[in-house]
Amino acid sequence: MTSTPRVAIVTGAARGIGSAVAVRLAADGHAVAVVDLDQASCADTVDAITAKGGRALAVGCDVSNEEAVAAAVDRVAAELGAPTILVNNAGITRDDLLFKMSAADWDSVINVHLRGAFLMSRAAQAHMVQARFGRIVNMSSVSALGNRGQANYAAAKAGVQGFTKALAIELGKFGVTVNAIGPGFIETDMTRATAARLGMDFEAFRDAAVSQIPVGRAGQPEDIAAVASFLVREEAGFVSGQVIYAAGGPRD
Ligand code: NAP
Repeated sequence: MTSTPRVAIVTGAARGIGSAVAVRLAADGHAVAVVDLDQASCADTVDAITAKGGRALAVGCDVSNEEAVAAAVDRVAAELGAPTILVNNAGITRDDLLFKMSAADWDSVINVHLRGAFLMSRAAQAHMVQARFGRIVNMSSVSALGNRGQANYAAAKAGVQGFTKALAIELGKFGVTVNAIGPGFIETDMTRATAARLGMDFEAFRDAAVSQIPVGRAGQPEDIAAVASFLVREEAGFVSGQVIYAAGGPRD
């Protein structure tokens, strides 16, 4: 067994990596608030958790909306208990080359990833500081190191890393650790959408990515959930302010 049961919030948990993280944290014994834009879309993740005897709550919330975030965190505290684990996973892509990128596509990517992580962390830390225990895990990406067609997304994911380190310094004395995960190529709707945008068959797109991955396979959402599961454990309390790339090979 890994941890004392706690209340966890996972954003963007209706599908993909967030869903796998929510299911994994529930399997580890935590009650999980499954947060996504549309509350109804959270049903599959919630059902997967409750079918295995876990506790889950579907919460509709746009993480970039200040009032919605405050209401969502209040609701989690009232219905599940004080949240002391937060996984900031919600994300979008609006890829384009710089000369074609609209200001709206820049703003929306920065808002979901950075403003969203900021608002959720600010709301949740109050519970963590009071409990003198907390775990925040922010989803960065290998794209933080630079990726063609993703100036907005790369900037947001690099920003997430700086945000992570600043919070780790501020919140450490309250028993709160803050880390980031940098996934490589993970098979989800997001990578399927990227293939479609490039006009490529998904299998061909994935195979091209795999040819560059030392472990010789694409990542699955569960690969990222395993890292999150470790980082939120009590025994991981001396790991803070780190970026852990989970990309099937080394990254700088
Ligand atoms: P995904 O399948 O597209 O899932 C993202 C989820 O976030 C969706 O359910 C989406 O809801 C939700 N979301 C979007 N905007 C939101 C908002 N404002 N408020 C609340 N929820 C919102 O993506 P994924 O591949 O699982 O990615 C999860 C995270 O990992 C993201 O931060 C992504 O940048 C990061 N990541 C992914 C990869 C990869 O290869 N897949 C690699 C590196 C990093 P809707 O469906 O309603 O839009």
